[in-house]
This record gives sequence, structure tokens and C-alpha cells, in this order.
Amino acid sequence: MARTKQEILRELKERQVRFLRLQFTDILGLNKVVELPANQFEKALDGEVVFDGSSIEGFGRTEEESDMLLRPDYQTFLVYPEDLEPTTKGPIARLICDIAYPDGKPFEGDPRQVLKRQIERVQRLGFDNLYVGSEVEFFLFVRGPEGQPLPQTPDRAGYFDLAPTDKGEEARRAMVDILHRMGLPIEAAHHEGAPGQHEIDLKYTHALEAADHLTTLKFVAKRVAIHHGLHATFMPKPIAGVNGSGLHFHLSLFKEGENAFFEPQGRLEVWPHQLSKTALSFIAGLFEHAEGLAAITNPLVNSYKRLTPGYEAPTAVSWSVSHRSAMIRVPKRRGASTRAEFRLPDPSCNPYLALAVILAAGLDGLENRLTPPPPIERNVYDLSVRDRRKYRVSEMPGTLREALEALQKNRVIRAALGEQVYKDFLNAKRVEWGSYRIAVHQWELEQYLAEY
Ligand code: GLU
Ligand code: MG
Ligand code: MG
Repeated sequence: MARTKQEILRELKERQVRFLRLQFTDILGLNKVVELPANQFEKALDGEVVFDGSSIEGFGRTEEESDMLLRPDYQTFLVYPEDLEPTTKGPIARLICDIAYPDGKPFEGDPRQVLKRQIERVQRLGFDNLYVGSEVEFFLFVRGPEGQPLPQTPDRAGYFDLAPTDKGEEARRAMVDILHRMGLPIEAAHHEGAPGQHEIDLKYTHALEAADHLTTLKFVAKRVAIHHGLHATFMPKPIAGVNGSGLHFHLSLFKEGENAFFEPQGRLEVWPHQLSKTALSFIAGLFEHAEGLAAITNPLVNSYKRLTPGYEAPTAVSWSVSHRSAMIRVPKRRGASTRAEFRLPDPSCNPYLALAVILAAGLDGLENRLTPPPPIERNVYDLSVRDRRKYRVSEMPGTLREALEALQKNRVIRAALGEQVYKDFLNAKRVEWGSYRIAVHQWELEQYLAEY
């Protein structure tokens, strides 16, 4: 619902909102907030609130010149339900912001604008937008007496179990309830395969709103978990030996209100079952650039521990109708629900950057009329070397370092990020890899200390 400044001011006043939070994400996808009292509300809505970008990852330009403006997107206005922040007296509202230079020029390093640039591109190609439904997986862990997360889950239930209610189930229900009251389109929620693992599914919406919703969901999940004495983590593989957490995106392009991935004239019995050329080329673009974009969709050292055989996460660049080992699955729904489920990303990614590079990859497929290799209706984990060659299957990067190398070779993804984000991201991730590389891990001590 479109809102004007006056309407928002009126609502702030009527509901006696005490604090307004101006929200954005850094390039690592972490939520950042500038909180303002009532006498600053008008200034905030006018986009005149300044913050110092030098302490934010990817936003520090030079030390002398790091002031940035927060430009609120009025469409993202909402008042938090009071049970989200029960210890604060009076309601809190929030607005998601774009970042601008002091002269008002949009800041190229702002992840939200990186996504907006790709959305403009898809619209220039005649599409309405990219539509995105999200399946967000995460773990709930127990907290210790000082509030510190412990590597223990509050339950032992599994996928879809209607177990006797545990603290995790209660926390997840409270999250869904609050998100619903905040206007997020929740489609479903359930326990996931691993102990302590949960999933919340968001109904499809246009790409920018989908990314905004994901930042909101992460924030709410973390807050509500705390109220329940738990810790919510979007770390992709917190427990070895069980499934990790994915962030599956259900993708489709729409044109003039119709799903452009659907080909009604296509024959149902012949693969690719009523998928349009647009869908095939978009999928082919994701194939072409999967390795190059993985560093963005799977940005942590830990992300690559999820992408290993046996845990329903993709390990190879492949697609299928049904197999969970595939990078892309095409659910059987057709008509307006025709979509490709991209199973590579994990929830530690910056959703703006992730959707931007996904769009860039797909659009490159469209512009170059790429066609994907044949789908594989087999478990990719079990494919022999020969079959891999036959099906043209390539491996996912095995480590963050390999993913960074693939990113450096990929011009399409680099151009989509823009020089500023590309360089800052690469630098931050090289530091992360470097510090991981020289750390001595528990595993090494267990393997070597006694033996050698
Ligand atoms: N948790 C799995 C992953 O890492 C996905 C399980 C599912 O198919 O929902 O992607
Ligand atoms: Mg799932
Ligand atoms: Mg899924």
C-alpha cells in the first residue's frame, strides 16, 4: 500500500510511536539500525538523517569523508507489534532505507541499490519483475546462564514432527505470529530435518520486497528466540553430520501480469514440461554463473560445509524435477505457479546481493539465449565421473577460497555488483579466509596432537 510522508507522520503520532528505526544492511548482510526519538521523525522521513559510514563494512569511503544519508523507502513502513520488543515502553516503528551521499546521489556501495539496478534491467527487457518465494531454514540453540549460545538444541524432533511442544516449536510459532502481524506473507512453517532446525516459508513477491522481508525475518527470528531463552542462527552448517540450513528461492519472471516461465502450448509429457524458452534460458544463465555467484549466495567459510553430499544441499551444477541433490528443482506446479527452485543459497547471504547476482545470471542467460544441459532425474551425489561428463555436471566450489577465485573470473557477476561492492566484498572475504586458514581447529588437535 503506497503511503505518503503525511500519512506516515499521522500514523506515528496516532499510535504514539516512541522510536523510529532507520534500517539498512551492510555488504555482509548484517542488519544495521539508526534509532531516532520522536523529535527527529520528520527529518528522518525527509531523508536527512546522517550516519557515519566508516564503521560499517563496505561503507567507509575515506576517513575524512564518510557521512551518508539514510533515504527511507515509505513502502517499508511498519509499526512493530509490542510483543516484539516487550521491554521498551511504547511502540517502535521502522523504515528500510537506501543510502545516499551527502549531496543526495545514490551510494553505489549500497546492497539494496545493487538489487534495484538489476530490477531496472529486467524491467527494461520488458518484464514486470522477478518474483521470489523464499524458504528460510535456521537453527535454534539453547542459551547458557550468561545468555551465550550453546551448541545444544532444545529438542530432538525431526521433519514435520508434531512432537510434544518444545521450546523451539513455541518460539517458531511466536515468530510466525509476529511476522504475520507485521504483514509478511507467511505461507508455512515447520520443523526441518535436523534437531533444532526450523523453516519459515514466505509467499512469492517481487524481488526487492522479498529481500526486505528476509532482513525483517532474520531480525524478528533473533529477537523472538531471545525472548524464549534461545538463540536463532542462520549459520549454514552449525552441526556436522546433519543437514545444514539453506535459503531456497522460488524464482519466476512475470510479463504483463502473466508468468513468463510457463509455456501453455508446451507438451506435458515431454520434458521440459511446459517450461518457456525464457525459463530455460534463465535457468541456463544460473548454470553458467553458479560457480561465480556462489561467493555471494554462500558467503561464509562455513557455507561450503553445507554443500557436501548426503544432506539435501547441492554439490554440483545440475537440475531436476524432483531430486533434492540438484541445484535447481522445477516443482511440478504450472500456470501462474511455474517456477525454478534455486537451492544453492544459504541464509547467511546478503539477500539483496544474492537476488541481484541471481538476476544478473538469469538475464545473461536470456540475453545470450543459453540453453541448459538435460536435467538429471537421479541422485547427483551418486554420479560416477563418466556420468558427470555425460550430463555436463560441474562441481560447486568446495571452499570459500575456490568460490572467491570463481567470482574473480566472472565478469557478469562483477559488473552486477559494481566495482565498489565487488572490491569491498572480496577484501572482507579474503581476510575471513586468511584468518580461517591460519587458525588451528579442534579437528586438527583431535587428529594429530596425540598421534604425531
Ligand atoms: N536443509 C537442506 C539444505 O541445506 C534442504 C532441505 C529441503 O529440501 O528443504 O538446503
Ligand atoms: Mg526445507
Ligand atoms: Mg525447498
